Amino acid sequence: MTGSAGMDRDLLLRLPKPELHVHLDGSIRPQTLLELAAEMGMELPSGTVDGLYETVYKETYEDLKDYLRSFRYSYLVMRDPESIERVSYELAVDNQREGVRYVEVRFAPQLHLGGGMDYIDVFGAVSRGMDRAKREFNRRPEVEGGSEPPFEYGIIACSLRYFDEELSDYHGSFLKLHRHTDPDTIFGLASLELVGAAARARDQYGLPVVGVDLAGAEAGYPAAHHREAFAKAQRCFLKKTVHAGEAYGPESIFQAITDLNADRIGHGTSLFNAGAVSDPTIKDREAYVEALAQYIADRRITVEVCLTSNMQITPSMEDLKDHPFGRMMEHRISVALCTDNRTVSRTTVTDELLRAVRTFRLDLEDLKNVLVYGFKRSFYPGRYSEKRSYVRKCIDHIEKLIEPVMGGGRGQRF
Ligand SMILES: [Zn+2]
Repeated sequence: MTGSAGMDRDLLLRLPKPELHVHLDGSIRPQTLLELAAEMGMELPSGTVDGLYETVYKETYEDLKDYLRSFRYSYLVMRDPESIERVSYELAVDNQREGVRYVEVRFAPQLHLGGGMDYIDVFGAVSRGMDRAKREFNRRPEVEGGSEPPFEYGIIACSLRYFDEELSDYHGSFLKLHRHTDPDTIFGLASLELVGAAARARDQYGLPVVGVDLAGAEAGYPAAHHREAFAKAQRCFLKKTVHAGEAYGPESIFQAITDLNADRIGHGTSLFNAGAVSDPTIKDREAYVEALAQYIADRRITVEVCLTSNMQITPSMEDLKDHPFGRMMEHRISVALCTDNRTVSRTTVTDELLRAVRTFRLDLEDLKNVLVYGFKRSFYPGRYSEKRSYVRKCIDHIEKLIEPVMGGGRGQRF
């Protein structure tokens, strides 16, 4: 990491980029939310895009719970296949416009159930929207001619660490049905159902569902509740990513890796926060976080870092320089830079890269590594040989674009 003076945003826009952590409902275009709400006769806190940015999609949030509250309008308007397809299509197009070539879109299909739709209908609607954008993009002559990599995507199904009956119709009925079930197993049961649906969507309906995720508040809702569901995902050869260390200490990251066998970690913000280790049996907290970081680096567990989102929900982190991204890079941890939510966090993949490059003084080699890690550690939906040739195409294109800037020299600044 040597420097980024004279940073070129235009180059970042042109580079093929992966996006591994983006929530569909957190990335709805505000204008689309207004239109869909109007069609349904649903009241929103504001009737204008600017008003939505003031009241719902704010610049800062009090905490993770406040951040998550901003999602409720989008999934309430995505209750039929057409609206889900539209939001998915627009998400893919917005990514394509800033040079993202591979998107793994994630969402909790449970939130959209009801109104005649089942899990497969929700996965199918997302896939139709993404497919339409993919077909349109891949008709470009530079892609058809093979000089540039095509646009590809995968779907990740999110299960939730915790929910209550108010979250959605599905969650209300689920809790009612299982009202005599031990509270420690009820959330795991919902996850188990989701994993089964994700595997069916892929195996019986040919949809590109590539993995599962666990999202939501961490403290008090441990990964261990979902062990059986994630073991099932493993048996079905679905990949696994887990939100961990976002709002809770390093042990949450440890649990995600050990209890759930996570291939990737969402956020991991508290990785180096020794003060947040709460297990009294851990005597040397500094040694513990160092060992954990080494383990993650050595096992090539990719951390999906979302700088803007992390800053928004961690008020104690006043300056982006305090974000552990720099230490992750120093530890040679495989990191991918992602948005988390384009609308809720008011950001883009390009902006996230730009912030990282400027704050942590990344050089072109660092930047290339981050992009390549992302493509390599994606849950690409095709065969491994196809993934390899796709990643190769992306690397070739990255090199073609950065070589003239580097002028053959390593450690070249922007
Ligand atoms: Zn997330």
